Parts: sequence; structure tokens; C-alpha cells
Amino acid sequence: MKTIVTISGGGIIGNYISSKLHNHNIDSLVIEKLSKSNQVKENIRTLTLNQASKKLLDEIGVNVNYAEIKKIFVNDGEGSGKINFSSDEIGSDNLSYVVFFNDLQQALQQKTLERTIFENEIKKIISGEPSKNSEVTLSNNQSILTKFVAGCDGRNSKVAKIGKFKEINNSYNQTAATFTVTVNNLEETSAYQIFSEKGIFAIMPAPKSSGKLTHTVVWSIDNKRLKDADIESYVIDNINYFESKLGTKIKIFSKILSFNLINHHYQSYVSDSMVLIGDAAHSIHPLAGQGINLGFADAQVFCEEIIRGFERSHEPDQKLVLKKYEIKRRSLNLVMLKSMDLFVNTFNSNNLYTKLIRNIGLSSVNKINFLKRLFINHAAGNNKI
Ligand SMILES: Cc1cc2nc3c(=O)[nH]c(=O)nc-3n(C[C@H](O)[C@H](O)[C@H](O)COP(=O)(O)OP(=O)(O)OC[C@H]3O[C@@H](n4cnc5c(N)ncnc54)[C@H](O)[C@@H]3O)c2cc1C
Repeated sequence: MKTIVTISGGGIIGNYISSKLHNHNIDSLVIEKLSKSNQVKENIRTLTLNQASKKLLDEIGVNVNYAEIKKIFVNDGEGSGKINFSSDEIGSDNLSYVVFFNDLQQALQQKTLERTIFENEIKKIISGEPSKNSEVTLSNNQSILTKFVAGCDGRNSKVAKIGKFKEINNSYNQTAATFTVTVNNLEETSAYQIFSEKGIFAIMPAPKSSGKLTHTVVWSIDNKRLKDADIESYVIDNINYFESKLGTKIKIFSKILSFNLINHHYQSYVSDSMVLIGDAAHSIHPLAGQGINLGFADAQVFCEEIIRGFERSHEPDQKLVLKKYEIKRRSLNLVMLKSMDLFVNTFNSNNLYTKLIRNIGLSSVNKINFLKRLFINHAAGNNKI
């Protein structure tokens, strides 16, 4: 078998890349570890897409149910600091869009079905000379000749392991709980985020057509706070704190899913014909809802460089294409990862001075229009740095 791009991982980013390249007549094959049916699950987990990511999905004709966010209210639960963002401040209809992870995953998977090999994974990659094909061997011993091997296989990327990429990782020592809820007193198109000793609590509108549920919660909790309690008991015992902060009843509607929060990044994204994209290259704290958006920004640049390479020559310079991708994305991702770490540490601190500074800081930024616009445009994906 022969293809131009072999994509390890049929998640959102892998399937997006395959669809985008297909629209430009560039062949790809997606290798997905799970079975097709294994990926159809109850809608619980959501993603917040920024405007740039939504535009990429619109361009390839992916349309799923979205809930719009027009305002974001951020509060320091332990103090008086607060900051509000509104789409009006940047002259836009929306700030971001909430989508169910499974809806988006399935819509993208539909587009790549005929190019996906399920229940398989890459076990060996023999990189060829530059401009020659590499040979990929799958776990069923099938062999593929390919120009590029794109690792879109998430946090424990097999491509990164095979390519011996050097990883830097760090546990946040936090667990994220996520679940859907009904509320009786929150604005329909507003998201709320509260930083407190009980954790970082974000509540957002859920996409319509999902029965009675109205909102979705992502709550990151310090493992020290959890002690021996399981996550479910902790959520049930502590949710009233946020009910009183927000002035609404919050009724849990779904199962509570939990994720261990770790950030990781690679010293390089490229080795021979191998390249890391999306969560395979980096993962970040969910507090800013930027993980998938960084992945889409990576995928966009990767596709652009491959498409441009083929516009220039029918044998594009493999090294040049991949190096350009790495140069354009790695340092930007690093800035985002480091800023998020600083944010998490500042809000986790019990130091009185840090608490004072963060309260003054939040409220001051709230009053400075140009700084607010900068933050909003960043979150919307309108600024590249
Ligand atoms: C609680 C929580 C909330 C989040 N909320 C947001 C949010 O609001 N907004 C946001 O932008 N981001 C959010 N994120 C981050 C976001 O979920 C990820 O950034 C995103 O899912 C990464 O997509 P991906 O396609 O790169 O990787 P993944 O989603 O990890 O997909 C990887 C795919 O590869 C497959 N695979 C794995 N190993 C192999 C292998 N060896 N061979 C073949 N296939 C393999 C997997 O089965 C999967 O299909 C959140 C994360 C968490 C944990």
C-alpha cells in the first residue's frame, strides 16, 4: 500500500488533517487503535472551540450542534477579583462555541471512513532517505510506503515513542471532573469560571438537542484536596459552594468523567519523516479551553505547508515542509503552555501576597479596555501570539 501521509490516530485532529488534505487531492491513510463502534459514547465531555477552529471546520463542511458563548465571567472565589469578557468588546457575535466531543469526533470520522484502518496501530517506521518513501509496518504486519508519518495519536503518542522524541512533562497534581447539568438561573449564552480553594470550576452552556440538560461543567480539583475521597463524592459534597457563588441550583445530569491533568511538550516536533501534531505534541491544563484549539492551529499549518510543498513540486522537500511546520508552531505552543502554568500556579497559591496581587490584577485588567481586547482576541484565536 502507498500513501502520501500516514496519520497515526483517528481523533479530531487526525481526521481533520485527512479531510483537509483530501480536499486538496493529497492522499492520506488514518490508522486508529480503537474499533469504530468503541468511539460511539454518551455525550458528556465538551470542547470549547475558538473562532479560528470553528472556521476551519466550516471550511471542510463539518456542521454539528454548537452552543454559543457571548460573555465570560471570571471570579476569584476567595476574594473580590473579577473580570468579564463580552463579544461586543471585539465587535463580534460570539466569543466561542461549545460542542460535544463525541459529536465532533463522529462528524469528522464520517468524512474519513473510507481512508481509516481501525483496530490497528503502527509498530515500526523505517525512515527513507530524504525525498524517498518511509516504510511503516502496522500491528497486523501490513506495510505502507509513505512520505510523511503524522503522529496525531494523543498524549501517549506511539509515533513519539518510535521516533524517540524527547519529552518534558509535569503533573499538575490535579484531577478534572466533567459532567452535564441543569441550572435554573444562569444566562443562556454566558460561561462562568470560579477560581477557589475547592478547585477551578467552569460552567458553560451545552449544545441544544441534548434533552433537559442546559450546561456542562469542567472542574479541576487539587489531588491534595481530594485526599482519599473519590471524585464523585467530592463533586456531590462540594457543588453547593458554587451554587451559592453563582446564585443558581445545579443538578447533575450525567455520569461524572474524570481525567488526570498532566502537561507535556516535546523538545522537537520533527524527526526524519515523523511529525507530532495536537495532543501528541503537547497537552495543556483545560482551564483556558485551548487544547483542541492549539491542535487545530497545528493542523492548519501542517496542511498548509504540505499543500504549498505540492504546489511547488510533485516531490516536495520533506525536511523543509516539516521544519517550517515546527518553526511556526513549537514556540507559540510553548508560550501558551508556560502562560497556563503560571496561571494555574498563581491561582493555586495560598500565599496572602499572591492572593492580593491576583485580586488587584484581575480587577485592574477588567478596567483596561485594550488589555481586555487583547485577551479576548487571544482566546478567540484571532492573534497568532
Ligand atoms: C477534562 C478535559 C476538558 C477539556 N476541555 C477542552 C476544551 O474545552 N477546549 C479545548 O480546546 N480542549 C479541551 N481539552 C483538550 C482536548 O480534549 C484535547 O486537546 C483534544 O482532544 C486533543 O485531540 P487530538 O486529536 O490531538 O488527540 P486525542 O483526542 O487524544 O485523539 C487521539 C486519537 O488517537 C488514537 N490513538 C491513541 N494511540 C494510538 C495508537 N498507538 N495508534 C493509533 N491510534 C491511536 C486514540 O484512540 C484517539 O482516537 C480538554 C481536555 C480534558 C481532559
